[in-house]
Amino acid sequence: MIKSKEKKNQKQGMLENVMTQFNQAADLIDLNPNIRKILEVTNNELVVHFPVRMDNGEVEVFTGYRVQHNNSLGPYKGGLRYHPTVDIDAARALAMWMTWKTALAGLPYGGAKGGIQLDPSKYSMAELERITRRFTYALGDNIGPELDIPAPDVNTNAQTMAWILDTYMSTKPPAARSSNMHVVTGKPIGAGGSEGRDRATGFGVFLTIKFWAEHKNIPLENKRFIVQGFGNVGYWTSHFLEKEGAKLVAVQDAFGTITNDEGLSVEDLFAYAKENEGSIVGFPNSTPCDNADFFAIDCDICIPAALGNQITAENAPLIKAKLIAEGANGPTDVSAEMILRERNIDVIPDILCNSGGVIGSYFEWLQNRNGEIWSLEEVLQKLEKKMRENFERVKNKAEARSVDYRSAAFIIAIERFEQVYTQRGIFP
Ligand code: GLU
Repeated sequence: MIKSKEKKNQKQGMLENVMTQFNQAADLIDLNPNIRKILEVTNNELVVHFPVRMDNGEVEVFTGYRVQHNNSLGPYKGGLRYHPTVDIDAARALAMWMTWKTALAGLPYGGAKGGIQLDPSKYSMAELERITRRFTYALGDNIGPELDIPAPDVNTNAQTMAWILDTYMSTKPPAARSSNMHVVTGKPIGAGGSEGRDRATGFGVFLTIKFWAEHKNIPLENKRFIVQGFGNVGYWTSHFLEKEGAKLVAVQDAFGTITNDEGLSVEDLFAYAKENEGSIVGFPNSTPCDNADFFAIDCDICIPAALGNQITAENAPLIKAKLIAEGANGPTDVSAEMILRERNIDVIPDILCNSGGVIGSYFEWLQNRNGEIWSLEEVLQKLEKKMRENFERVKNKAEARSVDYRSAAFIIAIERFEQVYTQRGIFP
C-alpha cells in the first residue's frame, strides 16, 4: 500500500492537502484575513522523547507527538495513531482535519491529533503497554478531560485507551482519580466506554453512503464496493453495507489485495484476518490482485479506510466508482480531487464521512461526565440523527453554492469560526 520511499511525500502531502482544502474554501467565502491567519497555524505542538525497557532488557527511545490546532469551540479532541509515518507534519495535518470535523459536526470541541512514530507489529503486547503508559506520562497535564481528549486512531484501540486512562488516573491526586474518566474516549465498555463507540465510525461511513444513495435515488442492493483497509473502519462499514445487500468485491490492506467478483463474506473475512495476524491475504474463495490495480477495480462505491494520500493523480483517472466515501483521514490528494471533480465522481469528504467516530466519542464523554449509561440502541439512534442532519447540511450548502461536498463541508466548518472569533474578539 505505502512503500517506505513514498512515506516522505505522503506526510508532506497531507499538510499541503489540508491547507489547500482550507484555503480554497476560505477563498470561496472571502474569509476575513485575520481569522484565516489564526486558523492557518496550530496553537500548541508537543514533541516528547521517552525511554522504554523492551522485553529483552534493552532500552529503546520513542518519539511521540500531540498537536493542538484550535480550541475556540471547546476542548481539543482527536485520536492517537501508532504508525511509522507519524511525525510533526502528519500530526499538524490530522489535527487540522479534526478541527474542521468537530466544527462541521456541531460538537463543542476543537481539533488535535498525535501519536507515536513506530510500527506496532514489531512489539509485544507488554511492550506496547509500557510504551503507551510512558507516552501518557510524558504527555502529562497537556491532556485532560476538559482540555484535550485523545481517542483511538490507526493501530490504537480500546485497550490502548484503557492503558492511557489507568496511567492518567494513577498519576493524579486521589480526589481527581474517579472524576477523570472522560480524559480519553473509545475505552472498553467495562472501563467506562460507551456502547456503540466500536462501530461508530464505520456506521457513520455507511450512513453517509446510504443518505447519498437515497438522495440520488440509487438502491444499495447489489451495489459493488471496494474497501482499502480492513481495520475497525473498513470492517464495520463493510458489515453495515453487506446487511443492506451490497457486495464487497475487493479489499486491500497493508499485506496485499484480494478480490472476488461474486462477493467476499464480510464476517468470514473478519474472522480470517483475526486468525492471521490481521492479514486478509490468502482468504479462501478470493483471488490475489496487484496492489497497484486496486483503485481500478470495477465497482460502484470505493471506500478508502486506511491512510492519507492513497487516491492520487496516478490512479484517479482509473477509478470506476461513482462514489468515494472517505473512511480515512485525507485519503484523496489535491491533484486527484480535481480529476475526480472533472469526472463527476462524488466524494463524501472525510470530515463528514468518518465523523461518526468523534460523534460517538462525544456521546461517551457526555455519559462519563454526567454519570449516565446509554444503551446501544440509544447511541446508534442518536448517531444516525446527527449524521443525517450533518449530511443534509452539507448537501444543502453544496447545492446552494454549486460546489462539491468537500468545499461545502469546509465552508460550514469555517463559518463557525468566523462567528466565534467575531463574537469573542481577540485577547487582549
Ligand atoms: N481518530 C478518530 C478520527 O480521526 C476519532 C477521534 C475522536 O474520537 O476523538 O476522527
